[in-house]
Amino acid sequence: MTLENPTNLVFDRLSISRVSVPKQKPEERIKNFEETYLGLNLDMAIVEAYRCIDCPSAPCMEACPVHNDIPAALKRLEDGDILGAAAKFRETSTLPEMCGRLCPQESLCEGACVVGFAIRPDGSSQPPVAIGRLESFIADNQRKMTGGFPVQMRLPSTGRKVAIVGSGPAGLTVAEELQLRGHNCTVYDLWPEAGGVLRYGIPAFKMSKQILEEKLQSLRDMGISFVQNTRVGKDVSLQELHDRDGFDVIFIGTGAGVGNSLRVPGEELANVYQATDFLVRGNLSPEELPEDKRERPYVGQHVVVVGGGDTSMDCVRTAVRLGATHVTCVYRRTEAEMLGRAEERHHAREEGVVFSYLTTPTKFMGDDQGRVSAVELVKMELSEPDESGRRRPVTIMGSEYTIPADAIVIAIGYNADQEFAEEAPIETDRWGLVKVDTRTGQTNIPYIFAGGDVVNGADLVVTAIRDGKKAATWVHTYLSGLRPKQ
Ligand SMILES: Cc1cc2nc3c(=O)[nH]c(=O)nc-3n(C[C@H](O)[C@H](O)[C@H](O)COP(=O)(O)OP(=O)(O)OC[C@H]3O[C@@H](n4cnc5c(N)ncnc54)[C@H](O)[C@@H]3O)c2cc1C
Ligand code: SF4
Repeated sequence: MTLENPTNLVFDRLSISRVSVPKQKPEERIKNFEETYLGLNLDMAIVEAYRCIDCPSAPCMEACPVHNDIPAALKRLEDGDILGAAAKFRETSTLPEMCGRLCPQESLCEGACVVGFAIRPDGSSQPPVAIGRLESFIADNQRKMTGGFPVQMRLPSTGRKVAIVGSGPAGLTVAEELQLRGHNCTVYDLWPEAGGVLRYGIPAFKMSKQILEEKLQSLRDMGISFVQNTRVGKDVSLQELHDRDGFDVIFIGTGAGVGNSLRVPGEELANVYQATDFLVRGNLSPEELPEDKRERPYVGQHVVVVGGGDTSMDCVRTAVRLGATHVTCVYRRTEAEMLGRAEERHHAREEGVVFSYLTTPTKFMGDDQGRVSAVELVKMELSEPDESGRRRPVTIMGSEYTIPADAIVIAIGYNADQEFAEEAPIETDRWGLVKVDTRTGQTNIPYIFAGGDVVNGADLVVTAIRDGKKAATWVHTYLSGLRPKQ
């Protein structure tokens, strides 16, 4: 028997080009809200997994916020063991099918992947292993093979009750982890359906809502209760949940869902939307929405979306699907400073969206019916770097111009709910973010924990999952009588 030379094996792996994942063609996908990516087949996935060189330091694992054991999972996939690969991802993540689709992998796991830095013997380079796409392939196929999310063994009931405020990825993760440890979890949310931004934000062309529905059903099957249409802090207070309703612990995962406003004249005109309002009305069916949000947003022909992050890409791509013929994304810096994913900008461009960089709105003009009809824009330039190294956008005087706008969407970032912060008996900072012990997720009130965007500010699905897992561990410790040290 001859042993394979490891160096040759690495070169063999490095010589393979990244498998390209089939997508819907732009001219097709703008007519529907289905996922843009059509997904890999098993042969393609195995070839892509074979590109992983199993490097001993595995920097991808370190760069992944939940530290998925990526090399171990890909090794199993390479051997055709989808169930084993999925089990690896599910050891550390409650929602691998979602993270695989939604994480900005280029700045997390794939950004650290050695395959993406390696120079081949012929001097060429290749992109990193498509970790995210493989993760969602593995998790999706496991569910297909076994008929749904894996049924997990629950420990006997402890009789302890946990209230979770917010049903986004942070809250759902806490609920799952604590229910499995035998505690009785109830999730409260102000929207008619559970899911947080996974439902009321991220459009179905990035992630099919069917995955969320299946996940929620699996959580209900575990015995987790969901209470919808309930704003904690108004309909029921945190004290009432604890003192009156007997919840031993409360986890706050209320996210950062309050959209920032531009503060320019004309913002009150009809058909000027905040991003979430636009996205939920544009993407969801009426029965998933409160009565006052059931009407589709009006888009007309010309839509201007203000902002340069992932939310603005979701808005421009939704506007295209709603039938707008001229969709412009206006951003006050250059593409290099944009925070969102390059991949999403690429998809938007393919779908006909025009980008206006170094530009900002100064006022919105309306017609005699009070509806927006045009927007005045002004050109910007970037200043010399200040002491923080950041180049600030500065107005170029006299560069104003006007373009038509039948609808405007403001997507310039999100904050936590200041009102909730003011009413809650816990320490918050001046932006309304909840202060916690970063090790445990515990607030200044020992029985209240928090995590996700309400602690970090607008962030990511995967960091909300990370916080949920961490908090669940420490809530369990607390409920077991071993109080986390302050
Ligand atoms: C449009 C959009 C697109 C995004 N795209 C991506 C992406 O592609 N990839 C990615 O990683 N991240 C993305 N994000 C960010 C990501 O969705 C969030 O970081 C993540 O959802 C935060 O999770 P969370 O559980 O902390 O909060 P959320 O998902 O915001 O959930 C909080 C929940 O709490 C509920 N709530 C709030 N206040 C109360 C109250 N007082 N009482 C009861 N319930 C309450 C809300 O209704 C909500 O359901 C996107 C965000 C937006 C807005
Ligand atoms: S969770 Fe996100 S960062 Fe971690 S391996 Fe999956 S795609 Fe990469």
